[in-house]
Amino acid sequence: MKINKKVIFTVLVTISAFYVNGQDHRFAQKNPDKPEATEFWDPEVRVIIPGTIPSDAFVLFDGKNLDQWESTTDGSVAKWKLEDGAMTVASGAGGISTKKQFGDFQLHIEWRSPMEGDDKKSQGKGNSGIFLQGMYEVQVLNSYQNRTYRNGQAGSIYKQTAPMVNVTSKMGEWNVYDIIYNAPKFTVNGGVEVPPYVTVLHNGVIVQNHTAIQGITNYIGQPTNPVHGKGPIHLQNHGNLVSYRNIWIRDI
Ligand code: MG
Repeated sequence: MKINKKVIFTVLVTISAFYVNGQDHRFAQKNPDKPEATEFWDPEVRVIIPGTIPSDAFVLFDGKNLDQWESTTDGSVAKWKLEDGAMTVASGAGGISTKKQFGDFQLHIEWRSPMEGDDKKSQGKGNSGIFLQGMYEVQVLNSYQNRTYRNGQAGSIYKQTAPMVNVTSKMGEWNVYDIIYNAPKFTVNGGVEVPPYVTVLHNGVIVQNHTAIQGITNYIGQPTNPVHGKGPIHLQNHGNLVSYRNIWIRDI
């Protein structure tokens, strides 16, 4: 039998027009009262394996080496101290950044304030920071019985939005941040079309709830909004010997 390609093409186009997002729209239109009319089956949701590290996560630091990191200053080898499954700020070594660049992501990161005396206080105690796309700082600070400005304490979007609560662990104990981040979108004229948004869980407690980031988290002056694409995760060297461990990220 001779196959008419035109007929086959027409049939395929017709089927695909009705079958969108795994749902037969023709069936749905004819049977709006059936439960199946609002059931979507395809494509099947991707299966991953849960656990301490989800199976599709990219490991940025597992305690073995700093291979995924480089000096923020000049791109040379990251020189933070590696010890007991953690990496610690090293004096004079500057900040470090991931070699990989990210857009929207889920980041898991654990941090620990060093044991410091009463001579250190406010922003001078256990200060570091996690810069999303290298620009927007989620503050890391020893905020356990250490007052500072509220939009500069642990879990703040630095100098912008204070955390909802202070759930910082005791000095010398580990903290966990789980950060969900959506990158900004810019107009062709360089304006902000959609700001970056961030949600932060600190030790399992929500401290930033889909917070709009106003721009670069400057130390002095208002937030600024340069157009940018993907960027690294940058860890700040603020001179305090803060440690990090168990860092993984998932593109979302
Ligand atoms: Mg900081």
